[in-house]
Amino acid sequence: MNPPIGSTVVTGVIGDPVGHSLSPILHNTAFSALNLPWVYVAFPVAKAFGGSVVESMRTMGIRGLSVTMPHKDAVARDADDATDDVRLLGAANTLVAHGHRIAAHSTDGEGCVGALRAAQFDPEGKRCLVLGAGGAARAVILALARAGAREIFVANRSRERAERAAQLGLGRAHVTSDDVADSCDLIINATPVGMGTDHGLPIDPARLGPGQVVNDLIYHPLVTPLLAVAEERGARTVGGLEMLLHQAGRQFYLWTGEVAPLDQMRQGVTIELERRARQQ
Ligand code: NAP
Repeated sequence: MNPPIGSTVVTGVIGDPVGHSLSPILHNTAFSALNLPWVYVAFPVAKAFGGSVVESMRTMGIRGLSVTMPHKDAVARDADDATDDVRLLGAANTLVAHGHRIAAHSTDGEGCVGALRAAQFDPEGKRCLVLGAGGAARAVILALARAGAREIFVANRSRERAERAAQLGLGRAHVTSDDVADSCDLIINATPVGMGTDHGLPIDPARLGPGQVVNDLIYHPLVTPLLAVAEERGARTVGGLEMLLHQAGRQFYLWTGEVAPLDQMRQGVTIELERRARQQ
């Protein structure tokens, strides 16, 4: 569809770097599938300019932004409005313009839980282990707690960061080592171990087995060493692409009010990932 000149609604992603972001593929595929006269652009914005992002969005009439490193904390602070989750996390990955007011949201945690539910796993009443305590882990811990997880164990290389992350567990999260994994229903890898050409495992595979769901947040590669070994040992697996899709789907809904066409978005991004893999 060719919208009349001047009426295209602009959205995008800001970060540094953003050149390899899959978000433009996801959102432009969705706009096109729903025939919306919207466009999604990658804006490389250096850390030094993080403090002017919200004001620039207002000035330029940009309807929505995805926010990635290193701006997640600055936009959470500068937005006119912020959700409770953004306040608790101190970080946001989504900005939405409502007229001249800019609201900050966080869709990563909901994206993770949405992906698990889509894979027929409901965290309510379950024992969950989160490996890692960085930005993604923090959002996931809060979302698991909100989804009614019975206990959330947090295992991280540095204990002090794990303790801070566990405070987001609404009183149900504890710092631990990964040896509790055998007793957990869900194990989530929120570290970069196993990403790209790293063949490492973030947990002893002997602790994984039937009856468990193993979710790796990494989506490059699509099947990580952790997912491969978990499947071999009889666990059910959920790949990181699903969280990426579901968090983007929530952004899409916040901006457009339309339910995101996740199947088309998954197809678009899978084609792009296969194209990139062929180029390597
Ligand atoms: P981050 O803030 O840098 O946190 C990384 C965490 O991993 C920290 O807790 C760090 O431990 C730990 N870690 C790093 N290297 C490690 C190693 N070699 N061994 C053990 N632990 C290690 O990163 P993030 O933004 O949370 O992202 C974490 C992962 O999630 C990345 O792989 C990212 O691609 C993925 N992710 C996926 C999605 C999605 O939509 N699928 C969304 C967000 C993130 P210390 O605290 O000790 O440094």
